[in-house]
Amino acid sequence: MAPAVPELNLVLLGPPGAGKGTQADRLRDDFKLAHISTGDMLRGHVAQGTELGLSAKGFMDRGELVPDSVIIDMITERIAEADARDGFLLDGFPRTRAQADALARALGDSGRRLTAVVLVDVPDDVVVRRLSGRRVCVKNASHIYHVELDPPKHEEVCDQDGARLTQRDDDREDTIRRRLEVYHDQTAPLIDYYEELGTLRRFDGSRPVEEVHDHIRATLATLRLEESM
Ligand SMILES: [Zn+2]
Repeated sequence: MAPAVPELNLVLLGPPGAGKGTQADRLRDDFKLAHISTGDMLRGHVAQGTELGLSAKGFMDRGELVPDSVIIDMITERIAEADARDGFLLDGFPRTRAQADALARALGDSGRRLTAVVLVDVPDDVVVRRLSGRRVCVKNASHIYHVELDPPKHEEVCDQDGARLTQRDDDREDTIRRRLEVYHDQTAPLIDYYEELGTLRRFDGSRPVEEVHDHIRATLATLRLEESM
C-alpha cells in the first residue's frame, strides 16, 4: 500500500497588504489544504447559531473577547473535516504566544502538529505604498485602481463608468501605519516563538505575487518530501 501523503499543517502570518489571501488561495489549490480563516469561521458559526457560535456570541454581546478556548474548539472541529485530511492553512490565528501554545496542545490531542509557519514578510514602506495608492469607485466598490500600479486613464475617474474615485479611510497612510504598529506589537513575539521552535519559514513578500507563490510552493513541496522520508 502506498504511504499516505504527509500532512501540511500550516499557519500563515504577514502584515496587511502582504497578499496573504492570494497566496492562501493558491496554496489551498496546490496542496489540497483546507483554508481556515478564523474570522470567517467565527462569523459562520455565529450566523448559523451553532453551539460554539452561540457561546461566542454571548461574549461578543457583552463586549468581551471570544476566549481562545472557543476558537480552538472551532478549529479542532474544522480540521476533523474531510477536506483537511491532507492538511490545513490557518489564517488569523494564533496571534499571541498563549494562543500558539493552546493550538499546539489541541493539535497534539488530535494526533497532529504544525508542519510550518509561513511568514510573508513585507517592509512597512512597501505596505504603505501598496495600500495607500488604492482608489475605489464610488459607484461600484469592485472597481479598484492603484495610482502607481494600475492607474485609471483619467486621474480620479473610473474607466468603467466615469464615476469619481475615492480613497477608503482604511487605506489612508496614518490608518495603515497604526495597523502596522499593532501588527508588529502582536506578531513579533509570535515570530520569535516559531523561530525558536524551528518551524518558521520566511518569504520576501515584496517580490511579485507569482514569484512569492513559486518560492512558498517549492519550500512546502520540499518540506512534505522530507516529512515522507
Ligand atoms: Zn466604477
